[in-house]
Amino acid sequence: MARYRDSVCRLCRRENMKLFLKGDRCYSDKCAFDRRSYAPGQHGQRRVKFSDYGIQLREKQKVKRIYGLSEKQFHLFFDRADKQAGITGTNLLVSLERRLDNVVYRLGFVNSRTQGRHFVKHNHFLLNGKKVNIPSCLIKVGDVIEVSEKSKKNQFIADSLDAVIRRGIPPWLELEKEQQKGTIKVLPVREDIAMPIKEQLIVELYSK
Ligand code: SF4
Repeated sequence: MARYRDSVCRLCRRENMKLFLKGDRCYSDKCAFDRRSYAPGQHGQRRVKFSDYGIQLREKQKVKRIYGLSEKQFHLFFDRADKQAGITGTNLLVSLERRLDNVVYRLGFVNSRTQGRHFVKHNHFLLNGKKVNIPSCLIKVGDVIEVSEKSKKNQFIADSLDAVIRRGIPPWLELEKEQQKGTIKVLPVREDIAMPIKEQLIVELYSK
C-alpha cells in the first residue's frame, strides 16, 4: 500500500480546513493551517473553481484523510455502509467513528488517530480484558478499552490524557482517567461527529 510520507499539514491546507492530524500541535500557534490557510504548492493562492465532481472528490479525500485510511480501506467502509439499512452517508461516518484507533483517540489515550493506530498495533490496549492489535476493529456498546498493564506508565498516554480536556470526551464514551479505562455507553450518532462533513457528496461520488 502506498503511504503518504509528506507533511500531513499540507493535507489540511489542501482540504482548506484543520483535520487535526498532529496532536497537540494542531491546538498551538504552530499550526500550519492557521499560519497559511491556502493550498500548498506554487499555485496554492490561486482561486480554483471546482466542478461538481471536484467538490465530491475533495469531500471524500477530506474524510479519508481525517480517519487516515487508504483508498481501498475507505471504499471497503463505504461498501459496508451501503449494504446496511438507513442512510449510507451516516452509516459510513458512524462506522468510521467506531474504529478502535479513532475510539482511543476520542478517549484521549493518544493525541491523534495516527498515534492511535500505532499504539493499537503495538498492543498498548486491551479490549474487554483481551489483547487487541487491529486498529480497524469496530467497537460495540458496552465494550471496555483500557491501557494494558505494561503501558500504564507510558508517558505519551499520560500526557494525552492530561490534554484531552481541551478536546473533550464525546457523550457516547465514558472515561475513567485514573484507571486509564474507557467504556462505550452507546453507539455514536451523526450529531456526535462535529467535523463539517457533507457525507452526501461522498455517496454521490461513489454512485457515479
Ligand atoms: Fe492540520 Fe494544523 Fe494539525 Fe498541521 S498542525 S495537522 S495544519 S490542524
